[in-house]
Amino acid sequence: MSHINSLCVKEPHDPRTTKPHVLPIYATSSFAFENIDEGIAIFSNQKEGHGYSRYANPTVDAVAGKIASLEAAGTGLQAAGLLFSSGQAAVSTMVMGLLKSGDKILTQGNLYGGTTELFVKIFQPLGIETILTDLHDLDKVEEFLKKDDKIRLLYCETPANPTHACVDLPALASLAKRYGKYSAVDNTFATPMLQQPLRYGIDFIVHSTTKYLNGHGNSIAGALVTTHTEQMRMGGHIWQAMKLAGTNCSPFEAWLTHNGLKTLALRMERHSQNAQRIAEFLQQDKGVVQVNYCGLPSHPDHAIAKQQMSAYGGMLSFELAGGLEAGIRCMNRIRFCTLAPTLGDVDTLILHPASMSHLHIPKEVRLANGITDGLIRLSVGIEHAEDIMGDLAQAIGS
Ligand SMILES: *Cc1c(COP(=O)(O)O)cnc(C)c1O
Repeated sequence: MSHINSLCVKEPHDPRTTKPHVLPIYATSSFAFENIDEGIAIFSNQKEGHGYSRYANPTVDAVAGKIASLEAAGTGLQAAGLLFSSGQAAVSTMVMGLLKSGDKILTQGNLYGGTTELFVKIFQPLGIETILTDLHDLDKVEEFLKKDDKIRLLYCETPANPTHACVDLPALASLAKRYGKYSAVDNTFATPMLQQPLRYGIDFIVHSTTKYLNGHGNSIAGALVTTHTEQMRMGGHIWQAMKLAGTNCSPFEAWLTHNGLKTLALRMERHSQNAQRIAEFLQQDKGVVQVNYCGLPSHPDHAIAKQQMSAYGGMLSFELAGGLEAGIRCMNRIRFCTLAPTLGDVDTLILHPASMSHLHIPKEVRLANGITDGLIRLSVGIEHAEDIMGDLAQAIGS
C-alpha cells in the first residue's frame, strides 16, 4: 500500500490483536470474513460469529451476556440475553418473537404507561389482544388461563409504578407453567440485585436499562433475558424479530450501560437504604397522608415483596394532604432534588404525575391507577439521605 490516499482509508491496525482492559466499543457496521466459506457459515447461522451489527455486535453481546449472567447468578440456570434500543424495544421484540395474531396477553392495569399503550395501541390492532386484570387475585388469573387457550403470555411488573404494588412471582410463574403459557416480568425497578425472577420459574425478564442498570441517565436501552436460550440464538424467534424489525442496541449505548452496571451492587444497596429511611421519615410528616413503599410493613404488598426481594429499591411515592395545590407548591419549592421524568439515576428525581406525566390522562383513569392529585413520585438517589430529607421537609413545608 503505497498511496497516501489509501493510507487515509485503511484501518491502522487490527484492534483485536491487543487485549483491552475495558470493553471496547466496536463501532463497526460489519465484520470482515476470512473467506467466503466463513461468510456463508455465519450468514446461515451454522457458525457463531459476527457479520453485520444489526444481527450481533461484540460490545452489545458482551453487555447482554453480562445482564443475563446477573439474572441467573446463583440460580444454577442457563440464561441468554439480548440488548435493544430501548426498554420498549425489548418488550415489543419479545411480543413479536413469541406471539402471533389471535394470541392474547394477560396482564395488570398498572404497568409502565408506555407498555400498556404499546399493547393496546400497537399490538391490539394487529390482532394480539390484551386482557387487564388484578394479578393479586390468583383465582381469577387461574380462571382466565384455564378457560382461554388463546392466552399465550402472562406479563407482569413488580414493584409497579407509582404505588409500589407487588405481585407474587412464584405463584404466577407456576400458574403460567401449569397451563402452558409463557410468563414475563418487567424487572426494571428491582434489578437482579434485589429480585431474580428466573429463580421463581419466570420465563422472560425485560429491563429498561435506561434506569437502574445504567444508573447515570446517559443512555436509552433495553434488555431481554430468558432461560429459553434457543429463542435468543442466531436463528431463534426473538433474535429473528430483533434482526428484522431492527430493534437492536447500538454499541455506544451498550457500552454506557456496561459502564454503569459495574457499580450496580453498590448503588442498589444505597438506593434501598436511603429510600427506606426517607419512607419512614415521610410517614412522620403531618403534611403527608400516605407513603407507598413496599419496604414499609404497612404497605399492602409488603409480605409479597419480602418473600421475593432482598431489599426494596429506590422508588417510592407519597400523598400530600393538600391535593393538587399542595403537589404543585411542593414541586415549586424543591431545590436539591431534580424535577425530571425518568428514574433510577444516582441523583434524586421527583415528579408530580397529576401535573406532569399524567396531565393528559383523564382524571378517572388516573385515579383508578392510584395517581391521585397530591401524589408525588420520588426516585431516591445515592446522595446523603439527610440532604434529600431536608429538601423534602422544606418543600412540603408542614
Ligand atoms: C422506563 C420504563 C420502561 C420503558 O423503557 P424505555 O427504556 O424508556 O423504553 C419500561 N418499564 C418500566 C418499568 C420503565 O420504568
